[in-house]
Amino acid sequence: MFSRNIQDKDVGRLLDSGQVQENYNMKCAICRNGQTVEGHITVVLEREQSTLVFKNVPAQICENCGEEYLSADINRKLLQKAEDAVYRGVDLELLRFAA
Ligand SMILES: [Zn+2]
Repeated sequence: MFSRNIQDKDVGRLLDSGQVQENYNMKCAICRNGQTVEGHITVVLEREQSTLVFKNVPAQICENCGEEYLSADINRKLLQKAEDAVYRGVDLELLRFAA
């Protein structure tokens, strides 16, 4: 249900914008209408030839527009794993996210 592609630069943008907050419900910065609720999403990261699919990533999801917010901590872990996969020359990897 909730899944979309997030490019590395999007993750960086989320981090930079300060929108990302840890583990509590907040007002959605996109529609400014909904509240976020805790949930799990699928995140796809692509870099060069590597595609990584992370399942079961904890996120805050807007109940109104469906915008997803990842915490800074989760972002860091995703990017770390992505760097590692690129280094290993992975083409496609499906991972269950473990915090
Ligand atoms: Zn929203």
